[in-house]
Amino acid sequence: RFDALNTVAIEAVAGPDASVLSRTPGLPDDAFVHDGQITRREIRAVTLAKLSPTPGALLWDIGAGSGSIGIEWMRAGGRAIALEPRPDRAERIRQNARRLGAPGLDLREARAPEGLAGLPAPDAVFIGGGASIAGVIETCWAALKPGGRLVVNAVTLETESRLLAARGEFGGDLTRIDVAYADAVGRMTGWRTAMPVTQFAATK
Ligand code: SAH
Repeated sequence: RFDALNTVAIEAVAGPDASVLSRTPGLPDDAFVHDGQITRREIRAVTLAKLSPTPGALLWDIGAGSGSIGIEWMRAGGRAIALEPRPDRAERIRQNARRLGAPGLDLREARAPEGLAGLPAPDAVFIGGGASIAGVIETCWAALKPGGRLVVNAVTLETESRLLAARGEFGGDLTRIDVAYADAVGRMTGWRTAMPVTQFAATK
């Protein structure tokens, strides 16, 4: 009886794919519609672990792309505001949020830092786009509640240099994550290495 009620409750707020997929972060990339701009599953799982979702906590997902980070945060019980300036990606984010059980995702079609003005203070901030712009990391850090977490992923050297500066200013950790996928090399198999991701994580 409990299971039946629980299922009904889940389906009342969830899209078609929401209840069959795990709520543990690191869903397969193809659980989301995307145009290639998505935080890959392995990186996403680590990113969510460091953001540390808790029930009701508020995330800013800046440069939301497909929405995968904000949506997985919400599937773990949190609330999220997503910032994404590109209308085609915003449409995919809406679609993913609906299908994956996060219809309450607060999507703003805006760019950081302008789009951050006036938003409610977050418990955690993820920056997946816009971190190379002067002042974006500092603005997010200033807005974070005490005890809040900031996680920023970089694939370019321009952004990476900002992360080194951020660690000097705010403390925290820098981690480099290299992921390789087995793929065909002629009739054999070899490792294709994805671009390395530099990750900055700090607690305020
Ligand atoms: N984390 C995303 C992928 C991010 S790709 C996912 O898992 O799907 C980076 C995104 O940042 C792109 O969609 C790009 O349009 C967006 N972006 C670039 N500059 C931005 C800015 N200044 N403010 C907000 N978003 C920005």
